[in-house]
Amino acid sequence: MARLHRFRDLVRIGPVQVGTANDRRGCEKHTAACTAPRCGFSAEYDTRSAAELAARTHRCPVR
Ligand SMILES: [Zn+2]
Repeated sequence: MARLHRFRDLVRIGPVQVGTANDRRGCEKHTAACTAPRCGFSAEYDTRSAAELAARTHRCPVR
């Protein structure tokens, strides 16, 4: 599970949360992380729209 406390602009799309954070070098990273128990999906993207698209198209394996 991603540590979401450092993220800003959090939105929830279905079971997936998308947030923006800065990495160590100050680059923006956009993360999509599923909040469903036992799913564990989480991925980083270079753009906000890519993260939101991934969230929108995510299919939980634990349904
Ligand atoms: Zn999921």
